[in-house]
Amino acid sequence: MIVRIKGAISNCYLLLGDKPVLVDTGAPGDLPRILSALKQHHVEPSQLALILLTHGHSDHAGTAAELRARSGRPVALHAGDAALARNGANGVLAASGPLGRLLRPFVDESFQAFEPDIQFREAFSLEPYGVRGKVLPTPGHTAGSVSVVLASGEAIIGDVLRGSMMWPNRARPPFFCNDVDLNARSIVRLAREGLMRCHPGQFGSFPGSELGRYLTTGGNEVFELSGEPV
Ligand SMILES: [Zn+2]
Repeated sequence: MIVRIKGAISNCYLLLGDKPVLVDTGAPGDLPRILSALKQHHVEPSQLALILLTHGHSDHAGTAAELRARSGRPVALHAGDAALARNGANGVLAASGPLGRLLRPFVDESFQAFEPDIQFREAFSLEPYGVRGKVLPTPGHTAGSVSVVLASGEAIIGDVLRGSMMWPNRARPPFFCNDVDLNARSIVRLAREGLMRCHPGQFGSFPGSELGRYLTTGGNEVFELSGEPV
């Protein structure tokens, strides 16, 4: 089961498999919301098998240091984003459009720095952590962005795409993307998983078929970055 925990500006997800796994930790200040969601689902922080970050931005890694201190459980982050965690800073935030430029001053906050306990570069299975699924590198938004692909056909995709602010079940390009071509290839990689449902870092979930709107076939993949209503 996937539980969405709404942070101030982004989503975290609690995976309730044989063991509980937390995916993302929200922005600085989101700790009480996360602890209250864990409590609601009868999960003690110390019971978390893993705290996995989809990437090292402040609205996903913002309370990782505090959660690790409170739970004693390991935090996993792709090596490509380890420097962000070490510095407690977002690094480059390349806006994908006018909205990103508008939002950047509000979301570009620093967070408590930490050294990730587990740093990885390749895909790996979450079975040892009690979850039927895998972690798949999906870089582009940041160098170390990853997605969690579950055996149920659902995926937690971080900021590869976001949900719509206005329309349920719709995907939108992320507000920020450091490497648009690489992100496009990550969308292709996710589309190949034949996903039923995607759970983004921002706003609501959407069907896997939405990934198809950000692909073209038979040539270079094209990523729609402009001209889309919010
Ligand atoms: Zn991000």
